[in-house]
Amino acid sequence: MSAAIGAVLFPWSTPLSALPPAVAPAASAASQPAAAASAPAHAASHAIDARAARVRSLAEQMNLPAEQLSARCRFESDIATPPPAGAVALSFDDGPEPGASEAILALLDKYQVPAGFFLIASKAQRHPELLARLRAHPRATLGNHSWSHPNFHDIAPERQRLELDRSDAALALDSGAKLFRYPYGNASCEANERAHGLGYRIVGWHVDSCDWAFDKTGSVDPHEAKICGVDKANREHFVDHVVDALKARRGGILLMHEIHPHTLARLETLIQRLQAEGFHFVALDDPALAASLR
Ligand SMILES: [Zn+2]
Repeated sequence: MSAAIGAVLFPWSTPLSALPPAVAPAASAASQPAAAASAPAHAASHAIDARAARVRSLAEQMNLPAEQLSARCRFESDIATPPPAGAVALSFDDGPEPGASEAILALLDKYQVPAGFFLIASKAQRHPELLARLRAHPRATLGNHSWSHPNFHDIAPERQRLELDRSDAALALDSGAKLFRYPYGNASCEANERAHGLGYRIVGWHVDSCDWAFDKTGSVDPHEAKICGVDKANREHFVDHVVDALKARRGGILLMHEIHPHTLARLETLIQRLQAEGFHFVALDDPALAASLR
């Protein structure tokens, strides 16, 4: 996979050159200026980055011996251990997203269900009113999703540390339940150590909704279906994919994203279907999920 793909930043990313000199490293791989992009552009960029990260991860997983894989700490976000049976924890990455965050909170109220929000700290800083609203909501558990959403496999340990430290300071999460999720799920041993040092539990997922792949047209092409594990029968059915995947795992932490309109359009149906299937909803900081966090 070409290095150029890894260098693609989210349009909303704040380049390190924009950080205060006291905290910016001397050499930065990120030089793309921040752009005021539309929500569809966000989603398109995310789909490209997510796919590139997945393709590269699969290639690495196939080509390296298991002991080398585990020594590199890179592929820990797909949770191998079983979740508490029948429990689903909704989680939404890449917010806060104006319009989307409020819509999700309204559904949490309507159905009395909790959800986790893994926030990109640079976005949270640009939307303090949304951050305050999420923070105050009784059913929202907030987590850290880095400062600018880089692929941690592509950046030096020094910048990984900077991403953690700066986002930690900006989000100022409740020290009793600090949660961190890697962009693209791409972990590193160095960042694991720093995150734990800052008091975080690291959160992956039992089930990937693959909403980044569904978002373009509502259907997943065969390559992306293979990458993300979407059954052929569900390639045009986001809700069916998620329900089937959760049934196969008997529940678990579900990965979704705030930035995909297709996900939001189907979220109410998804909640209704999961309730009808007998699942119950838990918060990410529920003690029953503690064994699923790192
Ligand atoms: Zn993300």
